[in-house]
Amino acid sequence: MAACLNCGRDLSPRAVACPQCGEPGPAAVPAGAAAGYPPPPPASPVHQPGSVGSVMAAVPRTEPFAIASIVCAVANFFGIFLIGSILGIVFGKIAQKNIAQNPSLEGSGLARMGIIIGWVGLGLLIVFLVLAVGVLGVFSSSTESDVPARLIIPD
Ligand SMILES: [Zn+2]
Repeated sequence: MAACLNCGRDLSPRAVACPQCGEPGPAAVPAGAAAGYPPPPPASPVHQPGSVGSVMAAVPRTEPFAIASIVCAVANFFGIFLIGSILGIVFGKIAQKNIAQNPSLEGSGLARMGIIIGWVGLGLLIVFLVLAVGVLGVFSSSTESDVPARLIIPD
């Protein structure tokens, strides 16, 4: 014997609605089916904990700063001189700090590479500047030495 879910009145199993309060009875057509919508699908395995959800959580996340580090460090060699190296080193340090705080993050290798390439880029830039200053120095000193030589010439 069924009873009304709303008011508790005894209902016939074939009652479409409670005669007392109008609550849908045992024979009532589900609202979703009456409206033409398909019935809600049964819980499928993909929504159960332990399958997709945990797989997504288990996929290692790469620290974004590690990627930024290596991109900037490499970009240094493609026209973004100095800034690329400095950003590569700075982003690499940030990435290493974040990865140290959250060991599930990936990218420690990328961050290390970014820092190394950043320093290499800085080193090459310094070498280039030293060479350039040296060449300029030789050039300017040779021209300076010529001027007094001419001035020494007696009238
Ligand atoms: Zn009722």
